[in-house]
Amino acid sequence: MSLKDRLKAQIQAFGPMSLGQYMTACLHDPAEGYYASRPRLGAEGDFVTAPLVSQMFGELIGLWCIAVWESLGRPARLCLVEIGPGDATLMLDVLRALRLAPDLLAGLQIVMVEASTPLRAIQQDKLKSHPVQWVSQIGQVKTDSPVIVIANEVLDCLPARQFVRTEAGWSERLVGLGPDDALTFGLSPRPVEGLFPPASVGSVLELSPAQDALASDVAGLIATQGGAGLLIDYGRSDPGFGDTLQALGGHKKFGPLDAPGEHDLTIHADFPSVLTAAKDCGVQTGLVDQGQFLRALGIDQRAQALSQARPDQAAKLAHQLERLTGAAQMGELFKVAGLWSKGLQAPPGFDPDPETAA
Ligand code: SAH
Repeated sequence: MSLKDRLKAQIQAFGPMSLGQYMTACLHDPAEGYYASRPRLGAEGDFVTAPLVSQMFGELIGLWCIAVWESLGRPARLCLVEIGPGDATLMLDVLRALRLAPDLLAGLQIVMVEASTPLRAIQQDKLKSHPVQWVSQIGQVKTDSPVIVIANEVLDCLPARQFVRTEAGWSERLVGLGPDDALTFGLSPRPVEGLFPPASVGSVLELSPAQDALASDVAGLIATQGGAGLLIDYGRSDPGFGDTLQALGGHKKFGPLDAPGEHDLTIHADFPSVLTAAKDCGVQTGLVDQGQFLRALGIDQRAQALSQARPDQAAKLAHQLERLTGAAQMGELFKVAGLWSKGLQAPPGFDPDPETAA
């Protein structure tokens, strides 16, 4: 039975399901979930991420790691954790940059947190020559060293719930069956009042306990071990309303209910909530636009140096630079949340956190 038919049967038997349950099934159903069965990253696939746009992205994050390691006092051992490493491009670019710090590389423990079996296989193949451990959840990372945690475009694929403002209160948006037995969105018949800020009828509020849980786990690890982390994604920097659910396949948008498991399903990162969850676990935080972050790390100079070395590549590099940092492209929609342990100076790209500085 296809995932779509199984979801329909489940709704027939038990009633409508939350959007979070639907997203989890579409992304991780062991037989047909998108990440479990057919993730396709890259130009030929379903979507392109920043590390796939340009090697400059991962290299600059590698330099950021070196700066954090130095401000930690150059510890002999460091644990580098990447969550949701996709096709391993980012980790390979980071590791290439880390060659600038042989002492760091020599004492490096690398842990990949990956839920997808096919992506894990790609990562294992590409990282054959490096000592890497794989785990399925951040809670399984075991280390006695300071940590650096990186997650690019992971928050957006964690399950979220949606609530819609009606005359009677906030009703959860549920996935149910329409008159023709097709999957359809509906509203819970039991609206709640008082939980959320005032809004006009029709407003949509998104909540992702899973995004908050990831931020708490990352922050908890950083607070305990010392270190820093980056959670990079498209999302909002201020609390707000709006339906941001989207399904992407072959770089095109589809209806989220069209073809369960066939498309990547995402929702904006809710950075205000993510940062609050992180702070509650005892770290300092900052949030900047991706363009601002990469410029602070020196992406303009890096692009210029690469273009001078390879004039034939100059136009391509200028295009990559614009794609990563341009306001109309990834520069402003994408944001970088920085997390760092108390007592550590603000890492490159971030201002000192006035609220939580120790
Ligand atoms: N970071 C990569 C890939 C982003 S796609 C890049 O920038 O190119 C999302 C990644 O998160 C994939 O590797 C996917 O398998 C992984 N992922 C999705 N849900 C996850 C979960 N619950 N726990 C850990 N990894 C997850």
